[in-house]
Amino acid sequence: MRCDRLWRDARLATMAGNGLGIVEDGVVAASGGRILYAGPAADAPAFDPERAENLDGRWITPGLIDCHTHLIHGGDRAHEFELRLAGASYEEIARAGGGIVSTMRATREADEDRLLHLALPRLDALIAEGATTVEVKSGYGLTVADELKMLRAARRLGEARPVGIRTTLLGAHALPPEYAGDADGYVDLICHEMIPAAARAGLADAVDAFCEGIGFTAAQTERVFDAARAAGLPVKLHAEQLSNLHGAKLAAEAGALSADHLEYLDADGIAAMARAGTVATLLPGAYYFMRETKLPPVDGLRAAGVPIAIATDCNPGTSPLTSLLLTMNMGATLFRLTVDECLAGVTRNAARALGLQAETGTLEPGKSCDLAIWDVERPAELVYRIGFNPLHSRIWKGL
Ligand SMILES: [Zn+2]
Repeated sequence: MRCDRLWRDARLATMAGNGLGIVEDGVVAASGGRILYAGPAADAPAFDPERAENLDGRWITPGLIDCHTHLIHGGDRAHEFELRLAGASYEEIARAGGGIVSTMRATREADEDRLLHLALPRLDALIAEGATTVEVKSGYGLTVADELKMLRAARRLGEARPVGIRTTLLGAHALPPEYAGDADGYVDLICHEMIPAAARAGLADAVDAFCEGIGFTAAQTERVFDAARAAGLPVKLHAEQLSNLHGAKLAAEAGALSADHLEYLDADGIAAMARAGTVATLLPGAYYFMRETKLPPVDGLRAAGVPIAIATDCNPGTSPLTSLLLTMNMGATLFRLTVDECLAGVTRNAARALGLQAETGTLEPGKSCDLAIWDVERPAELVYRIGFNPLHSRIWKGL
């Protein structure tokens, strides 16, 4: 059988089904950028490849997926970090021009080219560890023009590098200063102008919001979801990070792809997510960086069969993290996720959190040939090591 590329003498973690889907003596064949076969060498058809590689027993996993990032942003908050370590209070930092408003200002000041230029090294760090699909949110522009500018810069990341980019409009991330005291007025802008404009321009693959005391109320979130539905866009939600506003339940009932953070999620929210098949995206980098102590209810999510994804949440304020390998280690160390759960969290379940489960996230025939090939003896090493990158090579769409 003809194929473009063939990888043999490989060990596979196909991630198909529920576990790792291990194949000890495996073969992957690709044609036209799609997986033609991924399984035991003994069962493989006789392939006639254009190009074949012997992997000497190296492991192949699906290409990694970072399903929650804020990669596009102006400025950084290193100085704020420095001030906080020197004992400054949040109030003092805010007075010194810190906080999310500082990122908003820097993002508004930057043009599209500049935002792209600033984000590329962050994307390259993810790619260097085997990422083949990355979600990128807006949410620091907070005007129609600046949010669209962020989304255009995000789309261009996918032209500048061989990687799949999914964009998410997060206009409801924070209240811009010009709407102080008028959150409902800003939500009107999001619903009546921002979401329709992003949808018309084909710039957003999903819509997200921050349902929180310092973000938006459940009622405001619901309005954003209604506008997204009217525009034909799926929704996601930053929910239950600092308190329980029952955002995850609201998201699940709106058919959300995922609810993210979830430290304060309760049993009712878990049950709603299980019923709807909404993915729980846990963000251990933010938990770590904020020195949070309230753990997300991993046992409850597990018992209810809610699919768990993990992601970097790469953002300048609360999770300046650009490593999915470290994210997996943090998921295991901080949240006690198993090796299987960590790997599923950056492959199969991360794909589902983006609505891409038919396209990527496992090694199965018909899916995009997105592979990460590793110099490890067992998949557990990918979760176990800290600050070590054993990536041998990365394949995106068969190339
Ligand atoms: Zn986030």
